[in-house]
Amino acid sequence: CLAGGSQEICDRFTELSKDVKNVSVEFGKEIAHVGVKKSGCHGFCEMGPLVRIEPMNILYIKVKPEDCQEIFEKTILRGEPVERLVYEIDGVKYEAQEDIPFYAKQTRLVLKNCGHIDAEHISEYLAVGGYSAIEKALFDMKPDEVVDVVEEANLRGRGGGGFQTGYKWRQVARQPEKIRYVVCNGDEGDPGAFMDRSIMEGDPHKMIEGMMLAAYATGAQEGYIYVRAEYPLAISRLKTAIAQAEEMQLLGDHILGTDFSFKLHINRGAGAFVCGEGSALTASIEGERGMPRTKPPRTVEQGLFGKPTVLNNVETYANVPMIVENGAAWFKSIGTEGSPGTKAFALTGSVNNTGLIEVPMGTTLREVIYDIGGGVKGGGAFKAVQIGGPSGGCLVDADLDIQLDFDSLKKRGAMIGSGGLVVMDENSCMVEVARFFMNFTQNESCGKCVPCREGTMRMLEILERMVIGEGKEEDLDMLEELGHAITDTALCGLGKSAALPVLSTLANFRDEYIAHINRKC
Ligand code: SF4
Repeated sequence: CLAGGSQEICDRFTELSKDVKNVSVEFGKEIAHVGVKKSGCHGFCEMGPLVRIEPMNILYIKVKPEDCQEIFEKTILRGEPVERLVYEIDGVKYEAQEDIPFYAKQTRLVLKNCGHIDAEHISEYLAVGGYSAIEKALFDMKPDEVVDVVEEANLRGRGGGGFQTGYKWRQVARQPEKIRYVVCNGDEGDPGAFMDRSIMEGDPHKMIEGMMLAAYATGAQEGYIYVRAEYPLAISRLKTAIAQAEEMQLLGDHILGTDFSFKLHINRGAGAFVCGEGSALTASIEGERGMPRTKPPRTVEQGLFGKPTVLNNVETYANVPMIVENGAAWFKSIGTEGSPGTKAFALTGSVNNTGLIEVPMGTTLREVIYDIGGGVKGGGAFKAVQIGGPSGGCLVDADLDIQLDFDSLKKRGAMIGSGGLVVMDENSCMVEVARFFMNFTQNESCGKCVPCREGTMRMLEILERMVIGEGKEEDLDMLEELGHAITDTALCGLGKSAALPVLSTLANFRDEYIAHINRKC
């Protein structure tokens, strides 16, 4: 929306409303104060810039600065909708945001406040019940009980691996070393992924509250948020959020008058994809070169500065306040038995409604692409979707009814990853897709181990030959052999999954590789 001119729209509305700011105007039966609120991402990116009018819940799409006067006079002062700016599909106009099919089919829990509250004011988060989970934990629960509820909820890490969060926390809480750290991985590096960025920009306090709960549960007193330097808005909103929480004694010493103290720091990552890996991330915070190390010791035993460390990603922490507040049974009532809760996905590529979505785990790929995504762009045929970025996998037409959850995808040889979904239509060349992802991982390989450093280079050379029509038939066997060797022997997750896009496209679209070799495309 910012790229589409939303700041200009915001300035225009601010100008228009300045004279009526403190006056109550009446429309329908409700009384409202006129004011302009800058919110985080609404998620409906394809239709941005978006303007939501409260309390009527009207969502205007593709708003331009020149539309502001009309919106202001008609909707804000008289309560009448501007018909041409509401979402319309199949002849049906949808005024209320919640009725638009893109939103109606979602379950927005983690993203509930994104697009609704002003992330730059802590009072907005407090007004929707923010920080009540940490209050409940501090006054009504022992640290162990917080671990229990997260473990019982079976909250699995949303960053990729799906590891059980509660189990991880318990391991940290059990360490004899008393100096412990809580670290948030906000280094979202997958091409096409922007879920964590949107949470940090649109609802930073929710994630901070989740980190506080992790610290209380595990006995940590200090935390670090590792966030990409390419996310300047997220960094600025996090800084504001931390400063405001400190001012209200929600961060710092003796929080809410208790013995619990927690200090939070922000660390900017320089954009290396490998720093999303736990040991590389902690090395980078320590000021070392961001390179993975062999394990054991694991991060829960010797992580940041050699101390026991809880390391989760942004979306995982953002789930925790809701679990503490509503209980494990509530959380398990959403999603599937093995993967409770919801998952945020960044839906991009050849799909009508690109954007940021959140659905219960177990929702099918078909529901995501057709019901929420509105189908393939231009009415073309669906060909494939790359799920989970370069470390995920490629799902095809036959997989449309697969459930999007950790276990179903693992069985199919794919991964949710952090939640990127790049949709490809019939015109996409899958060899080119494989080359794109291999080029990405090759560039991002840190070079520490031979299979990844050399293997990805050799695979990329073959793919580059192939896309210009200079491939040979034996190259396909070589790609498979190299792919399996790298997967089996690379040191970290980046290398272990680097060959997945090639192996999965080879398995599903071998004919396209052969067509390239025979120079038929
Ligand atoms: Fe570095 Fe790749 Fe080895 Fe990971 S697998 S340590 S990224 S060279």
